[in-house]
Amino acid sequence: MISKKMAKEINAQINREFFSAFLYLAMANDALDKGYNGTYRWMTLQFQEEQEHALKFSKYLQDQGVKVELAAMEAPKTSWKGILEMYEDALAHEKKVTAWIYGLNSLAIAEKDYATQSMLKWFIDEQVEEEASVSEAISAISMAGNSSGALYMVDHRLGKRED
Ligand code: MG
Repeated sequence: MISKKMAKEINAQINREFFSAFLYLAMANDALDKGYNGTYRWMTLQFQEEQEHALKFSKYLQDQGVKVELAAMEAPKTSWKGILEMYEDALAHEKKVTAWIYGLNSLAIAEKDYATQSMLKWFIDEQVEEEASVSEAISAISMAGNSSGALYMVDHRLGKRED
């Protein structure tokens, strides 16, 4: 059994993961609108991953006998200047998510809640991957600079991302 406080914090994280999904879907929509088909695919896969994160946290709460309660979400931004700004916003967002997950882990350590610490390990490792893949996209787009041909190729490659 986990504490009421821990359950409340994990529930908040479920809502944040769904907001992440919503944000990436908004990015996907804007990328498609601007003709960045590779980024559209990249962001769509990310949208799906974030929903999986939310459901993974949900399953954990449910296994602990806690009812998940969804909350209202703020509307995401809907337009970006270009894909560089989009991935930069994604990185800033992922850093916030990492900090939230660290906060959950700090609470789990303080409460000697070993089950939650064990569950969070997957998310801690996942955040390293998330930040690395977004950073890699930012580097590639930055290298393309003002060359629309190079940017086209980078976007195309980003669309080849594996599921
Ligand atoms: Mg996530």
